[in-house]
Amino acid sequence: MTQYVKVTRDDDIGIISWDIDGQSTNTLSEGSMLAFFEEWEKLNADDAIKGIVVTSGKSSFIVGADIGKLEEMQAMSAEEVFAQNQRLHETFRTIEKAAKPTAVALNGDALGGGAELALTCRYRVMADDAKMGFPEVMIGLLPGAGGTQRLPRLMGAKDSLGVLTTGKNLRAAKALAAGVVHEVVPAADVVSAAKQAIKDGKVPAKAPWDEKGFKAPGEQPGTGEWTQTFAGAGALLRKETKGNYPAPARIMASVYHGLQLPFDKALSFEGRQFTTLFLGKVSRAMIRTLWFGRNAANKLEKRPAGVPNTEFTKVGVIGAGVMGAGIASCTAMAGCDCVLLDISEEAAAKGLQHVKDYVGRQVAKKRMTAEEGEAVVARVHPSTNYDDLAGAQLTIEAVFEDRGIKAKVTAATEAATDENHVFGTNTSTLPITGLAEAAERPDNFIGIHFFSPVEKMPLVEIIRGEKTSDKAAAVAMDYVKLIKKTPIVVNDARGFYTSRVFGTYTREAFMLLLEGVNPFLIENAGRASGMPMGPLELIDMVGIDTGLKIIEATIKEVGEAELIAKGEPLEAKQVLDWIVTECERPGQKVGKGFYDYDGSNKRADMWPEVSKRFPAKGEQPSVPDLVKRFLHVQTVETLRCMEENVVTAADDADIGSIFGWGFAPWTGGVISYANDIGLPTFLKDCEELAAVHGARFEPPQILKDMVAKGETFYPAPAAAMKVAAE
Ligand code: NAD
Repeated sequence: MTQYVKVTRDDDIGIISWDIDGQSTNTLSEGSMLAFFEEWEKLNADDAIKGIVVTSGKSSFIVGADIGKLEEMQAMSAEEVFAQNQRLHETFRTIEKAAKPTAVALNGDALGGGAELALTCRYRVMADDAKMGFPEVMIGLLPGAGGTQRLPRLMGAKDSLGVLTTGKNLRAAKALAAGVVHEVVPAADVVSAAKQAIKDGKVPAKAPWDEKGFKAPGEQPGTGEWTQTFAGAGALLRKETKGNYPAPARIMASVYHGLQLPFDKALSFEGRQFTTLFLGKVSRAMIRTLWFGRNAANKLEKRPAGVPNTEFTKVGVIGAGVMGAGIASCTAMAGCDCVLLDISEEAAAKGLQHVKDYVGRQVAKKRMTAEEGEAVVARVHPSTNYDDLAGAQLTIEAVFEDRGIKAKVTAATEAATDENHVFGTNTSTLPITGLAEAAERPDNFIGIHFFSPVEKMPLVEIIRGEKTSDKAAAVAMDYVKLIKKTPIVVNDARGFYTSRVFGTYTREAFMLLLEGVNPFLIENAGRASGMPMGPLELIDMVGIDTGLKIIEATIKEVGEAELIAKGEPLEAKQVLDWIVTECERPGQKVGKGFYDYDGSNKRADMWPEVSKRFPAKGEQPSVPDLVKRFLHVQTVETLRCMEENVVTAADDADIGSIFGWGFAPWTGGVISYANDIGLPTFLKDCEELAAVHGARFEPPQILKDMVAKGETFYPAPAAAMKVAAE
């Protein structure tokens, strides 16, 4: 018995059950692995024991490595990381090669290192509702405990690449069909089935790859099929990663070379690939933001201290349009009652219909049962009466983007609710402090900015106005946690943080059009940078007219002279005036923007007039030069947000950029991007870009100061690593 595993005996079968104290799931770490192996060795040495079953006392099996522990490993040298990896391989090989049979009973999901441990057990029983998966690629790593060697030797190169390079899970039925597990049974029967397999002598004496003359299924090295598999996978990979993500390429190399090497040599080849990725910049940046940063944000580590947790029993949503109906869906899905209020019964009913449609799709995809779906819909209460908001802890308005309407809605809500009630506005552009002037209780007024489509987008930007209290910020954060999204908290300013910085990506594209850069090259470079879409396609989707309205409103309120003095390139507006006002092509929603769209709103070709209106000049810039402009411009604007105290922490900026507008995830976010280039280099780049392209690239003082003091946003990456020759 240890804090990690529990051991029981059933006649001559020893059962080791992973059940880490104080954790809801089992994770692999040096400590848990040592404890497990020690117990395994005891049973293996015990003559009274005929075989060993490995299972878990949680609802899942093992969900991967304890990533919290990876931080310690990141400080190691390449030699140390490699040596640690090889020790793990040795442990796994000892289990795999033991004369005494070990069978695994996968009672629930086996992910990452958990799946790799399962593959070392010579007999595998899996629960019919469990999944097996290798998600390492999603944080820039590869399965480094034999996953890239055992899986292809079980299911063949091609099919295993489809799993290993995408992080997609294998469901039980598929795992059985592919020969990855031997039996699939209901979860309650996995242990007895594994015991029976040992008793019946069904566990093979050796792993298949330890048998003489073993050949992996599927295509064989040196054949045309083999060449075709790897050529095809390589082409697809280049198309999808644009060369920004090293992990899928190294997974492919591991499978390609590994299948041509004796098994133990293949494992050490995999170990070298893992070490290189692990100490490389990309995995470090991805782990930093996608794992540590996001987890800390989800756990509300920055929640104001001393404010009691909010128990939500009722949330109001005003405006049952695109955004309001989505917010209502999320609230009801989280188990909370939601009053969905609009000006007419028809409008409120339309919002409810959106919720019904959304829930219907979830039921059809088997993500919830029909009964659960009905319960969600029943929690949404359409209304036209503000009295229904009484007793709500929070109300979020998502009415038209109009100061006057929002002021009326604020007053009516406050009249119907008590002094503890918090009022959130989903405005996308109007400063919070100004909107709070309509409130009797401005300390309880806050911005809660969702992204469209609400159900799908993971981030919520919370905006504190000048008078917003800590209590209101805490309630807003508690709500975001309730609906299982990731919050960042920023301070009030025009465009807040996400919309302001996102706008610089598309604005740069307009500047490039005006410079005579080929629009197709602009789009390719945008995609090559790792942004989810080219900038012209992206603004088509968001609504080009929305972009124009925002610039017009900004000019009206701030004034042209001041905007120009701040380095805003107002010339970019010419492009918007032309496409929206002159050509009446506001974007995808009407099937016409920079691109044409077919009847079902699918993108067709770029509108030929774009190239005519903005003819390409003779000499064109290179893709890397354009990539640099696209990414640098967003980072410079983020640094300005930090200088102005709109964003107060680098990790908030990074999380907001990736989850808010899809900033290239391989970078770890806008600030990680500059940090990992090296701030002195980034500063120099910006000075050079500003000299050629204008003040928007001018490095902010905060950057100059940090460089002068030799500071960084995050610790410098480990010294450049060298891994023994591959
Ligand atoms: P929408 O036009 O789809 O919906 C607005 C709804 O508000 C309509 O159902 C309308 O009937 C209702 N409404 C108008 N006046 C009202 C009143 N006085 N009382 C009650 N209901 C009233 O708009 P939307 O796209 O959902 O945007 C709503 C808000 O969210 C705006 O402030 C917008 O800036 C913001 N926002 C929109 C997006 C987006 O992508 N659409 C993203 C973030 C934020």
